[in-house]
Amino acid sequence: MSVIYARKMGFCMGVRRAVALIDEEIQGQNTVPLATYGPLIHNPQVVASYEARGVRSITDPSQAQAGDRVVIRAHGVPGSVRRSLEERGAWIVDATCPKVALSIRKARQAEAEGRQVLLVGDAGHGEMLAVAGSLNHPAAAMVIANLEDARQVTLAAKVTIIAQTTFDEEIYRQIAEIICSRVDDCRVESSICPATRSRQEAVRELAEQVDGIVVIGGKNSANTRRLYEIALSTGVPAWHVEGPEDVPPEAGELKIIGISAGASTPDESIHQTADRVLEMQGEK
Ligand code: SF4
Repeated sequence: MSVIYARKMGFCMGVRRAVALIDEEIQGQNTVPLATYGPLIHNPQVVASYEARGVRSITDPSQAQAGDRVVIRAHGVPGSVRRSLEERGAWIVDATCPKVALSIRKARQAEAEGRQVLLVGDAGHGEMLAVAGSLNHPAAAMVIANLEDARQVTLAAKVTIIAQTTFDEEIYRQIAEIICSRVDDCRVESSICPATRSRQEAVRELAEQVDGIVVIGGKNSANTRRLYEIALSTGVPAWHVEGPEDVPPEAGELKIIGISAGASTPDESIHQTADRVLEMQGEK
């Protein structure tokens, strides 16, 4: 009876950096009220623990008071939100992931060169809103969610395609191929983050060594849900849990359990859940 950890799992660089920044703010001498713009990460337990330490979550600049410290999460925010916060006198702690910041710079550069910006991803996703919202003309950036959108979108003479950092690589390749077949001047940016791919590959490898897989992370975390779907698709039993309390009794009956976790799952939650599995297996 044992557990095996996926070779890559848990906090990605961008989330680890965002959490470190907010922890620094909490531990520092500054007593000015602290807020996050939207939930810091897609993990209800982490968000609740920050709330318990006095960090509130705001969803509109009007909820910030002059002098408040407001943490911008890894997804970033549209330029209009940033400007409104500054106008209200809030102090911005910028935890935008450097990879998202790079997509923003590429989009702005393309716009400055007179290119049409095509964003491949989920229209309502915070990162897509942040990248489009960083342009001088956000409404001109078209969001392409699937192959059909790629066939239908009205194209300018020069286009730049940028993917959401967590988008599926193969579908991005197909979308880019369709668009580039329709226009002569087509620039495709490599904006997909390797953190997503490496976690997905690690789950597939893990499935070959275990009898079942427990995937840990918020039910509202898209990347965690995707890891769970991949685990299920390998044919081994799999469970998506938010923490140790959710581990089902069946997991304790299997000999070797694989553990994976989404990019917003803290190390503590991973280890507590693994301990719970071992306890159910009779190993603790
Ligand atoms: S998944 Fe990649 S792009 Fe997204 S926050 Fe993490 S490191 Fe940044």
